Amino acid sequence: MSGKISIRLYIGDSLPGTGLATLGPDQSHYLGNVMRASTGMRVALFNGRDGEWAAEVASVQKKAVTLTVAEKLKEQGTEPDLWLVFAPIKKARLDFIAQKATELGVSHLAPVYTRRTIVDRVKTERLDANAIEAAEQCERLTVPTIAEPQKLDKLLAAWPADRRIMFCDEDLSGLPAHAALAAVADKKAAGPWAILIGPEGGFDDDERKMIRSHPNTTVVALGPRVLRADTAAMAAISLWQSALGDW
Ligand code: SAH
Repeated sequence: MSGKISIRLYIGDSLPGTGLATLGPDQSHYLGNVMRASTGMRVALFNGRDGEWAAEVASVQKKAVTLTVAEKLKEQGTEPDLWLVFAPIKKARLDFIAQKATELGVSHLAPVYTRRTIVDRVKTERLDANAIEAAEQCERLTVPTIAEPQKLDKLLAAWPADRRIMFCDEDLSGLPAHAALAAVADKKAAGPWAILIGPEGGFDDDERKMIRSHPNTTVVALGPRVLRADTAAMAAISLWQSALGDW
């Protein structure tokens, strides 16, 4: 085994250990037609559970590329237990959120409908496709899970008791995020968290009250400027990762 493998593929179902694997039509198309793979080309495979494996292209047909799976390259790793809860925004920025949040290391993406959310349909398959592509590219061995969109009040009503909420509030009454997170008493026992980001129109006052009155909420500010939702999400993830995550 030598040389770095530049193509990584997420194989959603199982990795068969060593042996032959046949890719589905989309990945076969990607490898065969887009990457112009030929027999002998090496790729890396992962499925989110069994680590990363080296494989070699065994045959290339239009709709079915087969691979010989060889040895394990890396043991399975995990990401911090960090959800990103965000109000859906327009397509290009939503793609951006899914890709970049994956690169920065979130474990779960949860679209939430708020009063001022203007996008009323979210294609979760599209979020998933973006997350997979980003995971392949950034060398993570997991892909964030994607929740079905939910209304904010329902989401909070069923909120898991042990998951803290980093509420990014543009009214700037919270502590600066780095200070708020530094104050979390026992970092090792910090446990699961979620970052909550509003829509371009912001949260309304009732929503703000509801979120603030939740016992798990830590209100944070992300500086004196009003950030767009996608920028706010990336800044919040970065700050959380450096205070409590795996950076
Ligand atoms: N239209 C709103 C801004 C919404 S920005 C207004 O003008 O007030 C979209 C989301 O990004 C907000 O709901 C909040 O979650 C987050 N956000 C943006 N800037 C922020 C900041 N400086 N501090 C904390 N959160 C911020």
